[in-house]
Amino acid sequence: MNKLKRMKRNFKFFFPLILKTQPILILFLIIEALLGSASNFVWILFPKEIIEELTGNRDVKTLIILIVCFAVSNSLINFINGILSNADNYYSRKVDFAIDKMMNDKIMLVDYFQLENPEFKDLVSRAKKGMNEYSNGIYSMLWNIQAFVRNIITIFGVIGIVIFSKEYLVVVICAVGIVANWLITSKQKKLDKEFNDSFTRSWRRINYYNGTIFGFKNHKELRIYNGKRMVLNTCDEFNKPVFSKYKKQYHKYARIDIVERIITILFTKALTLILLTYSCYKGNITLATLTMLYSSIGTLDNNFYGLIYTIKTYSQDCEYQEEFINLMELQNVFRKGKEKLDKIETIELKNVSFKYPGQEKYVLKDINMKINSLEKVSLVGLNGSGKTTLIKLLCRFYPLETGEILINGRDIEEYDYNDYMKKIAVVFQDFFIISFSIKSNIANCDENKEKLYDCLRRAQALELVEGLEKKENTYVNKWFDKTGIEFSGGEKQKFAIARALYKDGDFVVLDEPTSALDPMAEAEIYYHFNDVIGKKTTLFISHRLSSCIFSDRILVLDGAQIKEEGTHLELMKNKDSLYYKMFTSQAKYYE
Ligand code: ADP
Repeated sequence: MNKLKRMKRNFKFFFPLILKTQPILILFLIIEALLGSASNFVWILFPKEIIEELTGNRDVKTLIILIVCFAVSNSLINFINGILSNADNYYSRKVDFAIDKMMNDKIMLVDYFQLENPEFKDLVSRAKKGMNEYSNGIYSMLWNIQAFVRNIITIFGVIGIVIFSKEYLVVVICAVGIVANWLITSKQKKLDKEFNDSFTRSWRRINYYNGTIFGFKNHKELRIYNGKRMVLNTCDEFNKPVFSKYKKQYHKYARIDIVERIITILFTKALTLILLTYSCYKGNITLATLTMLYSSIGTLDNNFYGLIYTIKTYSQDCEYQEEFINLMELQNVFRKGKEKLDKIETIELKNVSFKYPGQEKYVLKDINMKINSLEKVSLVGLNGSGKTTLIKLLCRFYPLETGEILINGRDIEEYDYNDYMKKIAVVFQDFFIISFSIKSNIANCDENKEKLYDCLRRAQALELVEGLEKKENTYVNKWFDKTGIEFSGGEKQKFAIARALYKDGDFVVLDEPTSALDPMAEAEIYYHFNDVIGKKTTLFISHRLSSCIFSDRILVLDGAQIKEEGTHLELMKNKDSLYYKMFTSQAKYYE
């Protein structure tokens, strides 16, 4: 995309956002731009008048008036600008929060499989850095536009003054300096971009290491297995080439910077001073005009340089911020269906095959299965046989390779995504409990205390919660409340079960839901399975095969396919079946 198009896209994306979130910012910036250029003219014109008076009439009253006006106008401009720049700092932070929220919302809504995709992760990393680090975020656009307006007004004003004095050669010398500046700034910006682009993946990895150390939960393993040495060594190894590349980049940058400074001083400062002094010496201009022109040239130079810098900075910021816009405009694969779903009755997989993105091996191959309304089906199989993957497909986390999933006989893709999600409740094997209150974890923002306590009872967590001083308002760990409790894995698993029960979905999926529970709590849950789950269609995974006895049907996954199917009694009749072997090998420990 060319630079102009990119700038247009950036402006079209961010300007309405600012207009919507903080329109007052725009007013502030216009006033600042006008005051900024006014300040330049105050510094050009007042000293000239004062020197003229000093070398001419020397009228004290006129001198006092000039000095007071000079001081007052200057102070007033600085005073107002000071207030405004503090205010726009405050308001732009608010816009920054809006940007962060947009990014969070996007990640919450993006297709799940993207979260595992390294390209998506890099995009998020570039978008974050592009907004927060490499550019000044939303403030960059505002600041650059403000600077642009200020520079343009000043440049035209000063050119007017110089033309009026007829010192054309000075303008030519300035122009040469400006062109040289333009070329050098372009080179510097290009270097910056190349460098930042080449390091996106490195930064993401460095962040992983930092995240590992700051993830306090990781410290049990880190301490027992001397993770400090392993993590820090790997970090050091990884950082070494990054920093040596950094060093080279900065040397290159510094060399260009020195050339730029020499050109600026030579052309726009020394040469113009020589020319103007010569003009004054010959009597072509007065001392007052010499002073005015010299400061005019300085201002012109600064503002031209400012203008170049502003355009280049904005153009480069647009390049960085483009990643944020790309992220925001990324289309989801799912969520296209529009069909309403009132109730999940049957779930059917037809010729479903699946392999993870970037993998060669099929995890599921040609799966055909059907779960009828209110049926309780168990899915068993060895580690890695694809049970959790099958659940993830039912959760619409990944697009299918081939085949289709039918809900009530209709392709799942046709249904409204949110509608479907509302009707499915899952307890994942690696469940996540957020560091908020127990109530928030289970009931989300809902306030039905009776239902909450009923779910806690069914998940065997009632006694636990009733014994807590703050009951359901107790926080899980201490991130948000210093009285929070570090619950055990089993206790948290009970909350995860209660959360699924509270959701009251038509289709309940349980992936090793009792793996962390003590035998008593586990037995209670299975013994009262029908009361716990209620009248729901259920798919259930457990390595404790005794829990499958009560299911209506058992499916055995083996070698990416469903190899056996039947009730417990039916499957036990075949002594060569995998189910028989798994069941008897476990049962013998209980005999
Ligand atoms: P199960 O639940 O039966 O133990 P899974 O469904 O979790 O097995 O995993 C099936 C296979 O897919 C395993 O070999 C596992 O390593 C692989 N796998 C699981 N998740 C991913 C993933 N996100 N990307 C690549 N491979 C995966």
